[in-house]
Amino acid sequence: MSDSLLARHKAVMPDWLSLYYQEPIEIVSGSGRHVTDADGNTYLDFFAGILTNAIGYDIDEISDAIRRRVDTGVLHTSTLYLIRQQVELAERIAELSGLRDPKVFFTNSGTEANETALMLATQKRRSNQVLALRNSYHGRAFATLAVTGNRGWSATSLSPVKVSYVHGGYRYRSPFSGLSDADYIAACVDDLREVIETTTAGDVACMIAEPIQGVGGFATPPDGLLGAFAEVLDEYGILLISDEVQTGWGRTGEHFWGIQAHGVTPDAMTFAKGLGNGLAIGGVVAESALMDDIGANSISTFGGNPVSTGGAHAALEYLLAHDLQGNAAKLGSQLLQGLRAHDSALIGDVRGKGLMIGVELVVPGGKTPAPEAAARVMELAKQRGLLIGKGGLHGNVLRLAPPMTLTETEAAHALQVLTETVSQAEQELFSS
Ligand code: PMP
Repeated sequence: MSDSLLARHKAVMPDWLSLYYQEPIEIVSGSGRHVTDADGNTYLDFFAGILTNAIGYDIDEISDAIRRRVDTGVLHTSTLYLIRQQVELAERIAELSGLRDPKVFFTNSGTEANETALMLATQKRRSNQVLALRNSYHGRAFATLAVTGNRGWSATSLSPVKVSYVHGGYRYRSPFSGLSDADYIAACVDDLREVIETTTAGDVACMIAEPIQGVGGFATPPDGLLGAFAEVLDEYGILLISDEVQTGWGRTGEHFWGIQAHGVTPDAMTFAKGLGNGLAIGGVVAESALMDDIGANSISTFGGNPVSTGGAHAALEYLLAHDLQGNAAKLGSQLLQGLRAHDSALIGDVRGKGLMIGVELVVPGGKTPAPEAAARVMELAKQRGLLIGKGGLHGNVLRLAPPMTLTETEAAHALQVLTETVSQAEQELFSS
């Protein structure tokens, strides 16, 4: 990226809009799983899958669907009119949701999707008390900031939503981390019950939870945790919202929705990001008894516009037709195995499912977070043509989420670069 664009970015954009890398890159084109920057460097993109291009770059079937909309001369029509693409995508999502009598509402982002789900639940239960998991991320508007359990991303605590946080998502640093799966779940369920009994009047509207915590460093709770939570929630009449913004559309390999690993059907699911393969789209799918109950009009001008819904539908059909969920399962387990087998004292935890893998880096010999090591691995990987993500409460987790069309050769190459750069960072930072 040219210095001048970076300088202009800094001059005119907010300071808190952080950029990846010491020398941030400007991506100008993409193909398959690769992107090219303004200086002509090409990278294997191992993070786009979560951010935007869940499937891959420059896929004819998806690009053509978008082009067809542009060719009509009417890019967006207001959602006050009938929109064929919107109805067709809603039908498909409803069918795939597994919810009883589902309805779908489209937004432009994950934040708006979660705001909508929280609005539905709080209105239905006539309560602004909500439960969330510690270490969560759900968005950047008022209610979603309130349920975001990560100070680094919670710009304000002035939300009208009242939130109580429970343990569960971030097992590696939980007080219950040494326990077996069953004992861990039992301890978290006890904590949930205690939180409800001691910090609320019992009149809680809902719990919102990510099946795998994305921004939180791909923190992966044991299967069944949210199902066990749901049994307690049912006793109190508390609704369950699954935030599938990162875990939906088969990315976790074994299931189409992340919550399915927990053996429970939620009252609502939210989605965004990957569905559009780069287009701005989000939404909520919920049982009609919940969706239809707000008693007022609510509209999103561009939510569900024909470009986004037409393109997203093409992306969804491509994903299903090519069994990309199966590909995520297969290559994800190869990557997980390879990373777990790598011998480096820098690696504290390797976790995740499918093509959503987190590698938590620690100061060798203990569990102290090593964010400087994560930053160094990112830079070294970039120098070798591999883009990866970073995250977690302490900024010390490498996040791997390639597009779901990833090939075996690309996965093997990324694994080699990752293991070598982790060892190099360990050597540079911690060998005395
Ligand atoms: N939920 C989750 C789980 C997310 O990861 C994000 C974005 N990182 C959001 C919601 C918010 O989505 P958006 O940035 O599209 O508003």
